[in-house]
Amino acid sequence: MITINTIRELRDTLGPLRRSGKSVGFVPTMGALHEGHASLARASVKDNDITVASIFVNPTQFRPGEDLDKYPRTLAADQAMLEAVGVDFIFAPEKRDIYPFEVDEILFGIRSLNGMLCGTSRPGHFEGVVQVVSKLFNIVQPDRAYFGMKDFQQVVVIKRMVEELFFPIEVIPCPIVREVDGLAMSSRNVYLNAEERKQALFLSRTLSQLKEEAREGQSLAALQARVEANLAKYPLVKLDYFDVRSAIDLTEVKSLSREQEPVALIAAFLGSTRLIDNLPLLEK
Ligand code: AMP
Repeated sequence: MITINTIRELRDTLGPLRRSGKSVGFVPTMGALHEGHASLARASVKDNDITVASIFVNPTQFRPGEDLDKYPRTLAADQAMLEAVGVDFIFAPEKRDIYPFEVDEILFGIRSLNGMLCGTSRPGHFEGVVQVVSKLFNIVQPDRAYFGMKDFQQVVVIKRMVEELFFPIEVIPCPIVREVDGLAMSSRNVYLNAEERKQALFLSRTLSQLKEEAREGQSLAALQARVEANLAKYPLVKLDYFDVRSAIDLTEVKSLSREQEPVALIAAFLGSTRLIDNLPLLEK
C-alpha cells in the first residue's frame, strides 16, 4: 500500500492502471477509521482491481463552531487498518491541494434534499460534502464509490449528484456497522464520556423498538410517542431530530406502508457530541 499526498502523483499512478483496464474502487473518508470504514474498504477490495481510500478532513462541510479543529486525526493507525484490509492507495491531500483558491467561485446548491434532517440542522453541510466528493471523484475517477448507510441522507444526496451531473460512477451503499451493544460506529464516539456512551444507546435502542412496533402495525403517531417516552429515560440525550422518511427519495411518509420503504432517522446530542443513526422500519 502506498500513501500519496498530491493530485499529480495520484493521477500519474492511477492513469496507467486505469488504461490497462483495471477497475478502481474509491472509499472517501475523513480518517479516524473504525470497522465501519473497514467494511467499505473490504467491499471495494472485493469488487475492484484497485482500491483507493482518501483521508481528508473536509473543512467546507463543517459549520463554524462544529468539531473541525478537534476532529480526531489518527493517520498511522488508519494506514495500518487500510493496509490490512488490502487497500492499494491512500490519498491524503492537504487542504491547499483540494482548495487551491482562496475563495471558491463555484459552489453547489441543493434544493429539497437539503430541507430536512441533517440539512436543516447543519446548514451548508451537504453543499460542502457535494463540493468535496465531486472534487475527489474528478481526481480519482473511480468506477465505483462506497458510502456507509449510517449517513443515509448523504448517500441519497451523492446518488442524486452522480445522476444529475453524469458522473460515470456507481455509488455502492454499505450497511451500518455497529458496536456489540448496537451503537453505530462513528469517529465521534471517542468524544463520549462513560455516562454519555451508555446513554448513546438511546439512538439504536429506540430505532430497534420502533422497528418492532412498526412491524406490529403501530401508527406513525405511536412511534413519535415512543421516541418522546424514551427521551425521558435518557436525561443526557438532547434530541436534534426524529423523522420517518421514504428510503427511496427521503420524501415524507404520511403513514407506514411497505411500498414507501419507511426509514426512521435520528440525530441527538450527548453533551456537545452529535450522533446520527437510522433503521428501515418495514423492509421489503
Ligand atoms: P467519515 O469518515 O465519517 O466521513 O465516513 C466515511 C464513510 O464511512 C462514509 O461513507 C460513512 O457513511 C461511512 N461510515 C461511517 N461510519 C460507518 C458505520 N458505522 N458503518 C458503515 N459505514 C460507516
